[in-house]
Amino acid sequence: MKDFIRDFAVCPVCQKEFSFDKVASTSIKISSYDLDLKPEYRDINVSLYSLITCPNCYFTFQEKDKDYIYEYLNSLNTEEVKLFLNKIDKKSLPEADNSSSKSHEFYATQLMIAANIYAILGLPSEVVKILIKFAWYYREQNEEEKELGILYYCGKIIEKNYQTFSEEDYIFSLFYLGYINYRLNNKKEAANLFDYLLKNYNNPTNPYLKAAKFLRGELK
Ligand SMILES: [Zn+2]
Repeated sequence: MKDFIRDFAVCPVCQKEFSFDKVASTSIKISSYDLDLKPEYRDINVSLYSLITCPNCYFTFQEKDKDYIYEYLNSLNTEEVKLFLNKIDKKSLPEADNSSSKSHEFYATQLMIAANIYAILGLPSEVVKILIKFAWYYREQNEEEKELGILYYCGKIIEKNYQTFSEEDYIFSLFYLGYINYRLNNKKEAANLFDYLLKNYNNPTNPYLKAAKFLRGELK
């Protein structure tokens, strides 16, 4: 069985088609989860392939959004995205690479570009998901200060926007706000957030509620 499958996407900004490698579902193996449900992958680091970049204009988006990302673009925000992409000094960046041999450096570049693009598109819950992956990236590199910096910034975006999120993203985001407070040593605020979630939502299959219950126990 092959570990990667070649797929194609059309850039919603410059309309160029490009190929990318995605991990075959049979090659996604998780050995454990961190306290915030960051998966620890065996063999292939699947997160690395969750973002794809147009090699022509550097528009970068989540692979899961490839069939409907164009729905979020209109003439106004497309111009804003183009301005942002033009401002990036592409010569100083690693070359766009959507292949199975993508480097960690290029993945970090993709995270930075994607976080900016989803912010321009007015999708803060997606910005949160990308920033959490950015924090995971620094955790894997053992750069705790940078990880905490990203988590702090992510917490600010959650605080500003969570009331507009769908129920699924609301639970996910409030769990992370609790986790971020836990990591930043604001134990009381973390406990309050977990208590709020556990009091108001009772879905035994939701992994974030389970993780909230576990972390709440750690805070006693
Ligand atoms: Zn493009």
